[in-house]
Amino acid sequence: MHIDTKCVQSGYRPKNGEPRVLPIIQSTTYKYDTAEAMGDLFDLKSDGFFYSRLANPTVDCVEKKIADLEGGVLAVMTSSGQAASLFSILNICKAGDHVISSAAIYGGTFNLFNKTMRDMGIDFTFVSPDITVEELDRVFRPETRCVFGETISNPSLDVLDISLFAADAHRHGVPLIVDNTFATPVNCRPFEFGADVVTHSTTKYMDGHACALGGVVVDSGKFDWKASGKFPMLTTPDETYHGIVYTDAFGAAAYGVKLRTHIMRDIGAMQSPQNAFLLNLGLETLFLRVERHCENAVKVAKYLESRIPDGRITWVDYPGLPSYRHPERVSRYLPNGSCGVVSFGVAGGREGAVKFMEALKLAAIVTHVADARTCVLHPASTTHRQLSDKELEECGVSPDLIRFSVGIENIEDILDDISSALDIL
Ligand SMILES: *Cc1c(COP(=O)(O)O)cnc(C)c1O
Repeated sequence: MHIDTKCVQSGYRPKNGEPRVLPIIQSTTYKYDTAEAMGDLFDLKSDGFFYSRLANPTVDCVEKKIADLEGGVLAVMTSSGQAASLFSILNICKAGDHVISSAAIYGGTFNLFNKTMRDMGIDFTFVSPDITVEELDRVFRPETRCVFGETISNPSLDVLDISLFAADAHRHGVPLIVDNTFATPVNCRPFEFGADVVTHSTTKYMDGHACALGGVVVDSGKFDWKASGKFPMLTTPDETYHGIVYTDAFGAAAYGVKLRTHIMRDIGAMQSPQNAFLLNLGLETLFLRVERHCENAVKVAKYLESRIPDGRITWVDYPGLPSYRHPERVSRYLPNGSCGVVSFGVAGGREGAVKFMEALKLAAIVTHVADARTCVLHPASTTHRQLSDKELEECGVSPDLIRFSVGIENIEDILDDISSALDIL
């Protein structure tokens, strides 16, 4: 099936007489006739629902849809994108291990890595998304366990050279984890370029209506944990499951199954069935919305660029403009479009940015991005305000950067709003 058909049809396939629409199974628990049947579930000997912290029928259908959209073997949904990022790494790292991450990542992820996970004893090295293979080779350590990056970084809009990072990670026997939130599987499927694990904040385009927080971790099933030899948590007995060896028992889905049965079991942070239902509604139209977001964003980016000569706009950044710094990465990884987010600077720096934002009428100032309504944010005074100027610079965020999330409204109304706000600058 094509990706647009998958958006609508995958995951839930009702049988004769069953509800046409994915039902919300609002139950924490599931009944079995014998203690033995229940025991087999606990021992992971058989498949089935027993407690919604581990799996729920509504959530399960949406996980299957996302796994299908990304081309993975198994997806585990979480309560937020933050939980997905944390789980994706915690599943294969412990205190003393080391992670290499692109520095061009979401501010919340940067704080999670740089502070919270460092405090847990996992060390991080942040590298430029434009690093060369030789430089990247030099930051690997014997205890490095994975490499992390974002397909299109939020908010700096760096496009990751997925193949380069994947190939180098694999040379060092570790997987590449890619946060694919901004591109969505409609525009890029990182597994096709060698990524091993994909994460999302489903809160953004996937939901698309700003209704439900959520995240997901998808396992490609392609990484060879045994051959690597660096992941005993997957290749040696887990005593909390009577000595099960994930790679032996679950083959290609070892990473995904362990994430669910170990990390989710111990930490929680599961998706609620209600949120999964809302997310599924969003996914059904993801394909249509992403197309419109991108079409509108290209027009906004071009319009903003046309205002550079009169001095109102100082710079425009959008993967899809001919002036974008890595056109070859855009044509390789994002041939059908990138995302709806455009970054730019307005005259007057930090103060000009605030003045411009407050003059907008259609575009709302919100701490959100990537939903149907056009919205705008000034990272330096909101999402990234806890970062120092140097850290801001490392994340590719300048003090005058405005993150403009182009919605799916009529383009003329969006452009009118921008031009009226620029007039009062
Ligand atoms: C928003 C976001 C996150 C965090 O997701 P939440 O759902 O807000 O927890 C992670 N990565 C990216 C790229 C994001 O945009």
